[in-house]
Amino acid sequence: MATDCTTSLLILQDRDMNLQRIERDLAHLPVEKASTQKKMADLEAEITEGKQLVKELEVRGKMIETEMGDVEQQLLKYKNQQLLVKKNDEYQALTHEIELTQAKISDLEEKEIELLYELDEVRKNQGEDEAVCCKRIEVEKRFLGRLDEKEANLKSEIDTARQALAEVEASIGKPMLSVYRRVSRGLKFPIIVAQKDAKCQGCHMRVSSSVEVEVMKGNEITTCDNCGRILYFDA
Ligand SMILES: [Zn+2]
Repeated sequence: MATDCTTSLLILQDRDMNLQRIERDLAHLPVEKASTQKKMADLEAEITEGKQLVKELEVRGKMIETEMGDVEQQLLKYKNQQLLVKKNDEYQALTHEIELTQAKISDLEEKEIELLYELDEVRKNQGEDEAVCCKRIEVEKRFLGRLDEKEANLKSEIDTARQALAEVEASIGKPMLSVYRRVSRGLKFPIIVAQKDAKCQGCHMRVSSSVEVEVMKGNEITTCDNCGRILYFDA
């Protein structure tokens, strides 16, 4: 393959690779964006969950307070009733009720104290977790911004890349282009590689002597008899 053909094919390959890279990056962007948005949503959910837990404990606290108020009123009622009763058995019965109610009150007090400690702890943790989550959300947000920027850049690059590829394709001519297209199917870049010391620089295998000679002559497009890449001679 003559030197100017080699140069054209190398330019073609270069522009082909560039366009494929842009297309691949563009195709991958929605996946990256979605995964970043998912991370942000998860972090938001974590914050909401933490706040919800605090709220639940606060509601439980309010319920204990209300119950305590009711029970205290009940106690007062029993005590007032006791002042009015005349019969001993009625008096004893009320004493028993009073004792039960007092036990209920101390039980509620215990629950209230426990809850206050728990609430303190949960509030503290929630505050710390929220700060961490917010920082992480900021990081993800910045990353998302960079992805948007990347997308805009790639979209502006793609037309230029397509045009550059079309130009070199037009200059190469159909026969050579079709060989390139056929060879490149199923192969990984690079497709145009040097033959150096009778070895293909794509698969690093020694080529047959007939291939070696054809490549050195440089009259036509010759491919590696092992991997199928297009070879050019490199002394
Ligand atoms: Zn090869």
